[in-house]
Amino acid sequence: MEYVKKIKIAVNGGIGFGSKLSSKQLVTIAKYMSDNDELELTTFQQLYLEIPEEKQVEIIKEFNSVGLECYPVGNYVKSLKTCNFCKGEEEEGMPVAKELNRRIAGKAVPFTLKVAYTGCPIGCGEPMLSDIGVMKIRDNFNVYLGGKAKGNDAKVGSLVLENLTPDELYRVVEGIISLYSQEGKKREPFFKFVNRIDNSLLINSLS
Ligand code: SF4
Repeated sequence: MEYVKKIKIAVNGGIGFGSKLSSKQLVTIAKYMSDNDELELTTFQQLYLEIPEEKQVEIIKEFNSVGLECYPVGNYVKSLKTCNFCKGEEEEGMPVAKELNRRIAGKAVPFTLKVAYTGCPIGCGEPMLSDIGVMKIRDNFNVYLGGKAKGNDAKVGSLVLENLTPDELYRVVEGIISLYSQEGKKREPFFKFVNRIDNSLLINSLS
């Protein structure tokens, strides 16, 4: 049997009202799976699947054509984990979440980085347990850093900035990720990085 080199990619239906997939999207994914292949559902609103490396460009193009978003797997910024936007697209800032995701998802970082967004203080997107958490409060945004969901030393992130406009939010989150990319040690989790890094560097990246 001919050996086919495969790569793992992460796929989801993009940011919308809940983590949903249409029948067309499911059929398109299934097209590239054989009887023994498995689809892995992660805790981060992504599906992992393996596709032939030499056909990755055309397969991703086909996935995109049915509204599937594709991301790299490994030490990258994950696609934004969001709440279900139950109070409405504009009220909960879905366009802002989409733009933030477009700017940061897939960027290379020292260790897998999880960023979560939630449209109101009820916090269904669990922003405080993520590396970087964003919470929309009325018309503006709060940012939390250093949450840790796993382990018996799990902890909530610290509120570092409040009342940001969308543009301020993009700049701040991109600045923090850029600092982590430059100053983080190889495979250093974000919560350790935030505890280790000089406060002045962190404050500079937030300003
Ligand atoms: S965080 Fe708020 S707006 Fe978003 S799904 Fe939960 S209750 Fe609805």
